[in-house]
Amino acid sequence: MTQATMVNTHSGDIPTQNPCAQCGAPIAQPDWIEPGEGRVSYLWSCPACGYRFEAIAIYDEAAIPLAA
Ligand SMILES: [Zn+2]
Repeated sequence: MTQATMVNTHSGDIPTQNPCAQCGAPIAQPDWIEPGEGRVSYLWSCPACGYRFEAIAIYDEAAIPLAA
């Protein structure tokens, strides 16, 4: 039996339910998606507190969320 890997970086995947970097409320889906070379930038906008931040998924390695 093979085990599923923990890495989930299939290109085209859109992250959902990302916790707000400020208040922690889950955000259903990113406000804006900007594909780049080997990575994709996601702009999140929190409906609870209005905080906006960017997260970048890098497909060569692992997804690295960056809180601005
Ligand atoms: Zn928030």
